[in-house]
Amino acid sequence: MASFDSLGLIPQLLKAVQKKGYKTPTPIQAKAIPAILSGRDVIGGAQTGTGKTAAFALPLIERLNANPGNNPRALILAPTRELVVQIHREIELLARYTNIRAMTVYGGVSAKPQVRSLRRLPDIVVACPGRLLDLAGSGDAPLDGIDFLVLDEADHMLDMGFLPDIRKIL
Ligand code: AMP
Repeated sequence: MASFDSLGLIPQLLKAVQKKGYKTPTPIQAKAIPAILSGRDVIGGAQTGTGKTAAFALPLIERLNANPGNNPRALILAPTRELVVQIHREIELLARYTNIRAMTVYGGVSAKPQVRSLRRLPDIVVACPGRLLDLAGSGDAPLDGIDFLVLDEADHMLDMGFLPDIRKIL
């Protein structure tokens, strides 16, 4: 069985993984982490609860950490506010020993705090497509520097009719 040590992750991430109590990588983590670290595009399929968030978040944080910047460089799109909040929480915990910071964008709440957070230029934006498009339209979401895109639960996003919004964001 693979170990986290053998996946090529930096010590700050190994420490965060240990602190979370993860002992061995799940199958999707063992496959996706080295592929993403090597710069490949990846499509992953796995059931809920199989650790797919860390499967993309760990190598993403590592690659952002290797090339520091001061603008949003990674965009993670997800279909629901609950999922956006959950992904953000996992990223905050996994990135705790790095300088990488994330924030959330979703509808149904005031946009003002989100706009303020975007002005602080986080590394990672975790967003629902609709609100992100609103903020991009009003010039409040700087997306020019995005190098990494994650479509979480891509199948659900398509089922829920998000394809036109995703196309516009792309
Ligand atoms: P996810 O599929 O990303 O929603 O993750 C499901 C749950 O598994 C979350 O509570 C994670 O914190 C946890 N988890 C992720 N990776 C591991 C791992 N390698 N070992 C144990 N738990 C994990």
